[in-house]
Amino acid sequence: MRTNPIPTLTPRQIERFWSSLDTTTHPGGCWFRRGTTNLAAYAKAFGHGAHCIAYTLAHGPIPEGHIIDHRCRNKACRNPAHLEAITKHQNSSRYWCIYYTGEAHPSQFPLTETERQSARRSPRTP
Ligand SMILES: [Zn+2]
Repeated sequence: MRTNPIPTLTPRQIERFWSSLDTTTHPGGCWFRRGTTNLAAYAKAFGHGAHCIAYTLAHGPIPEGHIIDHRCRNKACRNPAHLEAITKHQNSSRYWCIYYTGEAHPSQFPLTETERQSARRSPRTP
């Protein structure tokens, strides 16, 4: 899937983006959006999730052929420390690692007890 490059943001947009995130209340260190922001809609219009903007602002452009994975497995998280650019193959490997071993891939955060129980109870089909 080819998406448009992430647009260059103004310093004011960047400041608003970071200040729209709740960076203090999640025990796992995840950063979630506080309410709706215009920037989230803006990002979507360009074919990106806000996590892609967070990644790009913190780490630089997303390498060609890569997607942004949440190492914490919280899809709404925008903490750049939890985001990693990986290939679709790597993403698939991480999924199957949990499916077959019942544990997270070593590059991901360990499964929570709830996730572990859920993985055991109802393995998803591909
Ligand atoms: Zn996170």
